[in-house]
Amino acid sequence: MIPTEFDYKRASSLDEAVSMLVASGGEGKFIAGGHSLVPLMKLRLSEPSLLIDIARIPDLAGIREKDGKIEVGAATTHHAVETSDLLRRLAPVVAEAAGEIGDPQVRHRGTLGGSLAHADPAADMTAVMVALDAEIHLKGPGGWRAVRAADFFQGIFTVDMAEDEIIAGVQFAPVQAAAYAKLHQKASHYPIVGVCAVLQASGGTVQSARVAVTGASTHAQRLPEVEAALAGKALNQATIDAAAAVAGSGLEDINSDIHASAAYRRAMVKVFTRRALERAAARA
Ligand SMILES: Cc1cc2nc3c(=O)[nH]c(=O)nc-3n(C[C@H](O)[C@H](O)[C@H](O)COP(=O)(O)OP(=O)(O)OC[C@H]3O[C@@H](n4cnc5c(N)ncnc54)[C@H](O)[C@@H]3O)c2cc1C
Repeated sequence: MIPTEFDYKRASSLDEAVSMLVASGGEGKFIAGGHSLVPLMKLRLSEPSLLIDIARIPDLAGIREKDGKIEVGAATTHHAVETSDLLRRLAPVVAEAAGEIGDPQVRHRGTLGGSLAHADPAADMTAVMVALDAEIHLKGPGGWRAVRAADFFQGIFTVDMAEDEIIAGVQFAPVQAAAYAKLHQKASHYPIVGVCAVLQASGGTVQSARVAVTGASTHAQRLPEVEAALAGKALNQATIDAAAAVAGSGLEDINSDIHASAAYRRAMVKVFTRRALERAAARA
């Protein structure tokens, strides 16, 4: 279908992007890669009268180290994340997960900020950011604020972001003992289920773990039952198997659609939790 008529403006700074959005009186929308928004507009599920292009705002794309943390700008494409030497060195799970998104076309246009703002229940990077305990940095007319990823994703396509705010980027600590495992939907490569595991281990014992799932329910969220089954235990196959066996027991409203039934997804949460934990453990 053809979208409804809209105007197009290109913002040259974060402040200008926010001002344009406020001036649109609720009728405008940011566009970054357009890979989620444009399909919605073609279906007329979204009918903005103004598109504000944020893809070329200087410094909104980029990956850098700052104060011992890693910052990724919102307009950074999945391809740039996938191929970043800095991420491959300091947080390989992030680059690997980005490389699992869609296909090369999607990865060259789609952006990290767009993916997080859109909050598709099956987006890959939402679970990765939750497991990394990343901070999402937002700017609005009133200034800056930071939201932890676990608090940012609240429901289906629902995030803690005001109508007049923009995601500027994300920040997280370097991490090695982490892995992402997903069951690809064959056509789009969206995860039917995706699990990201981050382990803190020393002397062969798991000190703590953060494990997050996407695709299974309304939004990316942690699996506290898995984390509890790992904490304080010897890091070995028996511990991983026991933790994977309880994965998803706390999840409500498991998705059921043409791609997979709720029962199948529930079974796959366990399988992909085990795979993510095994890969993370191999790096611990
Ligand atoms: C065929 C296909 C396959 C795909 N496969 C996968 C997959 O396997 N895994 C996966 O995770 N995703 C997948 N995607 C989605 C893809 O990753 C999108 O790029 C992503 O979800 C949205 O990013 P975007 O930059 O294109 O955002 P856009 O479409 O430009 O915007 C999406 C929404 O976010 C808002 N927005 C964008 N940037 C910001 C910002 N900085 N601040 C505030 N709001 C903002 C927009 O206003 C809009 O509401 C697929 C998409 C397609 C078309």
